Amino acid sequence: MEKFVKINFLGAAGVVTGSKFLIETSEKNILIDCGMFQGLKALRELNWEDLPIDVSSIDVVVLTHGHLDHVGYLPRLLKQGFKGKIKGTAPTLAIAEIILKDSAKIHEEEANKANKEKYTKHSPALPFYTIKDAENTIKQFEVELEDKWVQLSEHIAFRFQYNGHIIGATFIELDINEKRFVFSGDIGRKNDYLLSDPKKPEWADVLFIESTYGNKLHPVENIEDVLTEIILETIHKKGNLIIPSFAVERLQTLMFILWKLYQKNRIPNIPIFVDSPMGNNVLDVFKRFPKWHKLSSEDYTAMCNHVNIIQSYKETWETIDDKRSKIIIAGSGMVTGGRVLTYLKQLIDEPSTTVLLVGYQAEGTRGRQLQEGAHEIRFFGKYYPVKATIKNIESLSAHADQKDLLDWVSDIKNVPEHVYLIHGEPASLDAFRVKLKAVYNWNATIPKLTDVSKVLV
Ligand SMILES: [Zn+2]
Repeated sequence: MEKFVKINFLGAAGVVTGSKFLIETSEKNILIDCGMFQGLKALRELNWEDLPIDVSSIDVVVLTHGHLDHVGYLPRLLKQGFKGKIKGTAPTLAIAEIILKDSAKIHEEEANKANKEKYTKHSPALPFYTIKDAENTIKQFEVELEDKWVQLSEHIAFRFQYNGHIIGATFIELDINEKRFVFSGDIGRKNDYLLSDPKKPEWADVLFIESTYGNKLHPVENIEDVLTEIILETIHKKGNLIIPSFAVERLQTLMFILWKLYQKNRIPNIPIFVDSPMGNNVLDVFKRFPKWHKLSSEDYTAMCNHVNIIQSYKETWETIDDKRSKIIIAGSGMVTGGRVLTYLKQLIDEPSTTVLLVGYQAEGTRGRQLQEGAHEIRFFGKYYPVKATIKNIESLSAHADQKDLLDWVSDIKNVPEHVYLIHGEPASLDAFRVKLKAVYNWNATIPKLTDVSKVLV
């Protein structure tokens, strides 16, 4: 085969979201991840542009995990002519299915709402993709096992390796000729409540490593202590604790910790409402794939029975009207959409309300605005004053921090020929580049969007 591999950085280059890396070889063209850009408007607008490549020449998509910023662009890829298989582990594809359908539903609803209330500049506003588009995408899914090599052509094979982070998540080892390409995906953390520790690569000629927290260490805080204090305060204020949560993993982790705190008698039996249709579907994935997490089936059942799972929008309004002090966990995690908007619209102007942010808040999201102390916040074209107390637990992050990232590469026996730092904001990327040089004497590159690199194999 030809000696050069061409790498196209189509997303998560200089930014966190939109992961897409096209690897062009003389045998196969492989797209690693196919994520949507999220956050700043300028980034989100990029989603609407066709990719600057010949999409119909892509043979296969291989997914590290099911998060929106890794799979959310797939239906648009099909629209641009992609006809191949989309490969992932079984739970990754199950999560991707949930995420794509939910995302499509939100796009349809937003387009309808914008058209009805006429706050759109486009007439009519079109959904980014429809539920039908998502369903067509899912038809191209193909499950592959973890830790098993999959031969794509004579000189190309890949395998998925367990990576913590969320259920089903992996890093990818892709062997082309004699060279090993390693795509970190999103790296999870050790000692997670629900997931095992990530595996680590042992060899990488070309390494693509995420740098979300490349410049940060997660604070050493006792999550259970912090959460207990916030809950007791909420009860004291006779208020509501609203936790905007990612439906995948974070929500299940929160359910598990809250159940544990109650069991240990650290918090009273305060009602807990889980309002996330998507979260319910993810719970089902936990049930279907018991080998991919640490929860026993007894714990799983007890944890589910401890909370009120909201099924309909009518119940959402009943919960808002419920005068008791309570905990509400609702999507989305960065307050960009979902049921949490309904609660915040009604309750964010009350001083007795506490909003607890529990994960990474991307630039340009309402979550980031709240985190940075915004005095007002906009939902669907209207401003609401922020009177609620805003709190933040960073240590519940599903992402490795700088120390974890350095540890994740520590088993690599060779000096990689190329190290690409991806999936980070500029400050994180640069800090991690400097750190990798200091600790391992590796020279890393920070690619920009649409950069193209050639690598000898
Ligand atoms: Zn992720």
